[in-house]
Amino acid sequence: MISANLSTESPYRGEITIAFHGALTDFFKSETEPIVVHFQLHEKTSLKHIVEALGVPHPEIGKIILNDKEVSLSYHPVRGDYIHLHPWQSKPPTDDDSEPRFILDNHLGKLTAYLRLLGIDALYSHEYNDERIAQIAAEQDRIVLTRDRGLLKRKVIQRGYCVRQDNPLSQLAEIIDHFQLLPYLQPFRRCPRCNGLLVKVDKQSILDQLLPLTRIYYNDFSRCSNCGQIYWKGSHYDRIKTILHRFTSIKDEEK
Ligand SMILES: [Zn+2]
Repeated sequence: MISANLSTESPYRGEITIAFHGALTDFFKSETEPIVVHFQLHEKTSLKHIVEALGVPHPEIGKIILNDKEVSLSYHPVRGDYIHLHPWQSKPPTDDDSEPRFILDNHLGKLTAYLRLLGIDALYSHEYNDERIAQIAAEQDRIVLTRDRGLLKRKVIQRGYCVRQDNPLSQLAEIIDHFQLLPYLQPFRRCPRCNGLLVKVDKQSILDQLLPLTRIYYNDFSRCSNCGQIYWKGSHYDRIKTILHRFTSIKDEEK
């Protein structure tokens, strides 16, 4: 027989162990992997709550394994649990996959422009507050990119990522790598100003809108289907090429 003491004690009190794997270890000072944390339960608490108390944003968490079974963040751990947390993992895309779509908080304007230059769907407005960002992410199934872990605590956010790097170009490399975006890169497809899609436009039809030298030297033009801005190879083409060469050997499409 189990003693009366133990049998009446709440299973929601006592120690649990959590192992953080992969990129989730970035939120701890230690360099080891996995990071193993012993956590004292005092009451019935969801795993989401515990993980956030430890400083790890819940939208970065993918698989959660307890005793060889998968559980969710809404699970309430009991004494003695040993839980493995793995980061959400991008998989190489299949034909069925829709392209990943992002929404960025208003400190990541430069990263937004870079993502758009490479054709990635990146929503951004300095008018969006945290609540609006979370709402749009939920409604449109967008991944939230931010450096603010507080924003990622919002429950409606399903997928998100706390950008580690400071420098915008390093951030771009980090995001391309973390979300395996290389197959999705399509330069000259999207307007860096507004995220609208670019459509090819006949030079003759916009001749009156071009500066004299542009009229002479360039022949391939696109217009943003959203804001109307006109682009040509030359305006931001070299900039894109420079960025692209940092990540990939994608061939110059110029003909
Ligand atoms: Zn535009």
